[in-house]
This record gives sequence, C-alpha cells and structure tokens, in this order.
Amino acid sequence: MISPEQKFKDQVVIVTGSSSGIGKACAIHFAGQGAKVVVNYSSNEEEGKKTVDEIHERGGEAILIQADVSKEEDVLAMFRETVDKFGRLDVLVSNAGLQKDAPFLEMTLQEWQKVIDVNLTGMFLCCRAASRQFLAQVNNEEAPNHSELSIGKIVLMSSVHDIIPWAGHVNYAASKGGIMMFMKSIAQELAPHKIRVNSVSPGAIKTPINKEVWSDPDKYEGLMNLIPYKRIGTPQDVAKAVAWLSSDDSDYVNGETLYIDGGMTLYPEFSDNG
Ligand code: NAD
Repeated sequence: MISPEQKFKDQVVIVTGSSSGIGKACAIHFAGQGAKVVVNYSSNEEEGKKTVDEIHERGGEAILIQADVSKEEDVLAMFRETVDKFGRLDVLVSNAGLQKDAPFLEMTLQEWQKVIDVNLTGMFLCCRAASRQFLAQVNNEEAPNHSELSIGKIVLMSSVHDIIPWAGHVNYAASKGGIMMFMKSIAQELAPHKIRVNSVSPGAIKTPINKEVWSDPDKYEGLMNLIPYKRIGTPQDVAKAVAWLSSDDSDYVNGETLYIDGGMTLYPEFSDNG
C-alpha cells in the first residue's frame, strides 16, 4: 500500500539485486513511499518481475532492468536506461551481493574473485555511476531535485562481517571489510558536493542467502546464541533503516555504518562474564 507520508515522492531509486531478499524488501518499501523504483536483477528475470508486479499491485511505480553489477558495460547501461525512463536519479541502494564459501586452504581463485567482483567492484561501479549522475543533474531545470538538502544519497549493503571475522568465508568478509573503507573514503570525497554515503550492516536476516541456517532447527538454535535480541531479522527491518538513511531525516549522517543485527556485534559470548 502507498503510505500517506510519501517520503520519497517522485524520487528515483535504483536498488541493485532487488529480485530477492533484502533488495526486494527495499524496492517495495521505497515504492510504498512514493518513489519510482528501478528493480535490478542479474540472472533471475522471473523473480525480478515478481518484485515489479508486487509494487504495481500495491499502486507503486517500478521498472525492471537486467544488469550484472560486476560488469562495467551493464552498470553504465542500467544508469542510462534509468535516466532515459525517469529523467533523474536520487538514491542508489547498492545491495547486490553473494557468498561463495570455502575453507581458506581450499578456496579457489575463482571463488575469491567472484565475491570480490560482485560485492566490492560492483559497489565501485554503481557508486561511481550514481555520483556522476547526481552531479550531472545539478541545476538541470528539466530534472528538479526532490530532496530538499543533499543532491543524492547512496546506501551500501555491508554486513556485520565488516567487523566480525568469519572463518570459511574469507572472500565475503574481505569484501564487506573493503566496503567499510570504500564507503568512508567516498563519503569524505563526495560530501563537499552534497552527496551522502552511508552503509547498513545487517546481522542474520531471513533471506535465501542463509536459508541453510534458518531452515535447520539445530542451526537456528545455534544462531540464536549469537543474537541477544533472540530473533532472526527480516528484510523489512533492513529496508526501513535503508529508507531512513536515504531520507532528509538523516541529512547530517554521513560516512556511517548502521548495524541492524539484534545485538550480534555486542559480543554476546561475554554476556555471562566470558
Ligand atoms: P539474496 O541472495 O536474497 O539477494 C542477493 C541479491 O543480489 C539477489 O537479488 C541476486 O540476484 C543479486 N545479485 C547477485 N549477484 C549479482 C550481480 N552480479 N549483479 C546484480 N545482482 C546480483 O540475499 P540477501 O540476504 O537479500 O542479500 C542482499 C545483500 O545483503 C547482500 O549484499 C548480502 O551480502 C547482504 N547481507 C545479507 C545478510 C543476511 O543475513 N541475509 C546479512 C548481511 C548482509
């Protein structure tokens, strides 16, 4: 349903990897707040279409664009198509990401490279394209700015594994740790242009990426030992935080990481004095 608040009325939002999970929830949430949303998928067109259909059924506006975020030509084409269709861009949610897990000693270069290419290089390509677009549309009367303060907002999807080491997932943890410094460095560089850049770092969120854990009762119980708040997160928990960081309500927040993890980063192992 379209919210009466309409915090993102007429703003144009790209959410990468929004055919599923957290990205899908973000796309639906932004559309519910009046945004025109680009739903991006890499290979699963059917799931991408389902996100767009769900937005249309709720009375929102969205288009579907295929792009592999690790490929420069795909990313440039996605941003071109967005501006051709909607005339401008206000928010980038750089969300697409994946895991290719393996013990470090057995990890192949391919497993390492794929995760770095999508999770980190994909962020570089999308953030650079978004920032260039934000700057190109300043003082463009044909594309008036709908946000009152910044000229554009970027939210990167990191993970608690940007600070919690993760054996067996070194490619993933390295990519998320990399996002932290990438985000802070571009936030510093882009702030004078009035572009805001922040990250959200989810803990355990119930999506296809970690189905193997939440669908197994024993593993789920083990997971609860890591979450002081004693529940798994929902994609909507993350979407609401992403929307706040993209809104004028957080205008003075820049270069920050917001942990959405039910307390996972509170070292719960120490709650009984270790
Ligand atoms: P998911 O598997 O449901 O979604 C991942 C999305 O990324 C999918 O839509 C997929 O199609 C897309 N994608 C993968 N490779 C792509 C590519 N090359 N180009 C474009 N899109 C691509 O999982 P999710 O949990 O929703 O993950 C979304 C983001 O949240 C990821 O960056 C992930 O690392 C992060 N995250 C998830 C959790 C969690 O517990 N679920 C926790 C922390 C961080």
